[in-house]
Amino acid sequence: TLTQTIRDTQVFDLINKEKSRQESGIELIASENFVSPQVMQAMGSVLTNKYAEGLPSKRYYGGCEVVDEVEQLAIDRAKELFKASWVNVQPHSGAQANASVFLAALQAGDTILGFDLSHGGHLTHGSPVNFSGKLYRPTFYGVDKESGLINWDKVAETAKKEKPKMIICGASAYSRDWDYQRLRQIADEVGAILLADVSHPAGLIAKGLLNDPLEHCHIVTTTTHKTLRGPRGGMIMLRHDFENPFGVKNPKGNLRLMSELLDSGVFPGTQGGPLEHVIAAKAVAYGEALSEEFYNYAVQVQKNAKVMAQAFLDKGYSIISGGTDNHLMLIDLRSKGLTGKLAQETLDKVHITANKNAVPFDDKSPFVTSGIRFGTAAVTTRGMQEADMKRIVDYIDSVLMNHDNEAHITATKKEITEWMKQFPLYA
Ligand code: PLP
Repeated sequence: TLTQTIRDTQVFDLINKEKSRQESGIELIASENFVSPQVMQAMGSVLTNKYAEGLPSKRYYGGCEVVDEVEQLAIDRAKELFKASWVNVQPHSGAQANASVFLAALQAGDTILGFDLSHGGHLTHGSPVNFSGKLYRPTFYGVDKESGLINWDKVAETAKKEKPKMIICGASAYSRDWDYQRLRQIADEVGAILLADVSHPAGLIAKGLLNDPLEHCHIVTTTTHKTLRGPRGGMIMLRHDFENPFGVKNPKGNLRLMSELLDSGVFPGTQGGPLEHVIAAKAVAYGEALSEEFYNYAVQVQKNAKVMAQAFLDKGYSIISGGTDNHLMLIDLRSKGLTGKLAQETLDKVHITANKNAVPFDDKSPFVTSGIRFGTAAVTTRGMQEADMKRIVDYIDSVLMNHDNEAHITATKKEITEWMKQFPLYA
C-alpha cells in the first residue's frame, strides 16, 4: 500500500538540509517569506489528488463538492481582505495570473505600456524574452535618473505617444508607493485598461499601509507568497466589474464582463486543473492575513525596511530613490566600488541571502549588475525588529568592506548562525 512505501530519504534529507539552511541564515530576498505550518500542511494535503477544472459549482469533474467549499472559502476571504467584488484564486503563479489577464483583455500584437525591467519592473510586463514582449507590442516607462522616482508626467507623455491598450503598474524592485489615481487618469485619457501587479507589496496593501490599487485600477494581480505570506501562487482581483471595452461579446450578443473574460483567461485560457491544495493554503494564509496579528506584522515589515534603509544611508550607501515606502530597497553599490555579483556571493558566504539586481541605467550586465535588493518580509516573520535591522546592516557592511578577508568572513558566519538561534522558525 501507499503507506508501506520505503521512505525516500534522498529527497527528505535534502528537504531537511534546506530547512537548516533557512533556519541558520538571514533571509533578505525581497520576494521571499516563511509561511506558517498550517499553510504548509494544507499544501501537503490530499487535495493535491483532486481534479477540479472549472469554478466552484461549475466543474467538469465529479466529486468536487469538498474542493468547491475550499475554493469558495479562499475566494470569500480574498474578497474580504482586499475589498474586492470578484477574485480568481486559481493562477498557479504571478506570471500565470498576468498571462491570464493579457489573454483576457488583449489581442496579439496590441500595444502595452509597462515599467521597464531594468528600472525595477517584472519580466511579464513586456520583456522581449517573455510572452508579454513576444506576443504584444511592449513599450516602457522608467524612473528619472536623478531622483530614481517614476515621473507621472512622463508616463502620461509616453502613453499619449504609444496609445497602449493596457498600462501596467507594479514592480519587483521599486521601493516607493504608486499613484494609482494619476495612472487611472492617464489610462482613461488614452482609452487603456489599467492593470496593477502588486505581487510585492500585497500584504501591506491588504492592511491599508499603502495606496489601494483596487480603488483606481481596472484589474489587480498579485502573487500570494511575498509580503502576503501565503503559498507560492497567484490571484486576480476586481473591485468593480466592467464590460470589456474592446468589443468581445458573449453568446447573447452583450459585451462580456471582464470577470467572465478573466475566468476564462485562467481556465481554459492558460491553465488546466487548479491546484486545490495550494488554493486551500491560500485560504489559510488569507485567514491569517485578516487577523490583527498580521496587521502588526505588516506594520513591522514597513518599520524594519525604513530603519534598514536609514542604516545603509548612514553608512554611505546609495539607495535608489533615497529610501523606501514599502518592504524593500534597491542599493546602488557603485559608490562603494562593488558589483551586485560580488556582494551577493560575499553575503552568501556568511548566510545572508539576497539577490543582485540591476539598478536603473546600469552599465553592467544582468549577470553582474551594480545593485543588490534587500527586503524585510522574511526576517520580520522571524520576529526581528528595528535594532536587529541595524545589526544586519552592520554585518552586511563589515563583510562587504572585508570581502577578501576569509578569517573575518568565517567568524561572521559563525556569529550569525549563533544569533539566528534566537529567532526560531519551525519547531
Ligand atoms: N509580478 C511581479 C511584480 C513579481 O515581482 C513577480 C515575481 O517575482 C511575478 C509577477 C511573478 O511571480 P511568479 O514567480 O509567481 O510567477
